[in-house]
Amino acid sequence: MRCPFCGNTETQVKDSRPAEDHVAIRRRRSCPACGGRFTTYERVQLRDLVVVKKNGRREDFDRDKLARSIRIALQKRPIEPDRIEQMISGIVRRLESMGDTDIPSDTIGEIVMEALSRIDTVAYVRFASVYKNFQEVTDFEDFVSELRPQSQPQDS
Ligand SMILES: [Zn+2]
Repeated sequence: MRCPFCGNTETQVKDSRPAEDHVAIRRRRSCPACGGRFTTYERVQLRDLVVVKKNGRREDFDRDKLARSIRIALQKRPIEPDRIEQMISGIVRRLESMGDTDIPSDTIGEIVMEALSRIDTVAYVRFASVYKNFQEVTDFEDFVSELRPQSQPQDS
């Protein structure tokens, strides 16, 4: 596992223990090159999920991407990291058990909002406001292109 701080690939496992009621293994790792410490989680992946965007585009479901958006919403909120991981795993498990491997991005957003609303109101509002903004444009690409300045007219 590559060190996220210095990129060294020879990191060491210092400690392994079950986490999230034995659905994951939590490993404490350290990097002999820079002394950095980080944690990884090992989990069962039941099915390969595909996210279907509003415009019909498909991409592989990425747990880390989902986790990142949830952690951003929960930034500086008094929620235990283990509880957050547990919530993320719960969301993934729900998605995996939906019967179809193709999941509309809307469905994921709704499930995340529902889960956040139960754990922390502030995080829920944060996530919902970002999510709703994305809903108003048809797609993330449109959102990004709206941020980009229009091509400048040449000096005349
Ligand atoms: Zn390192």
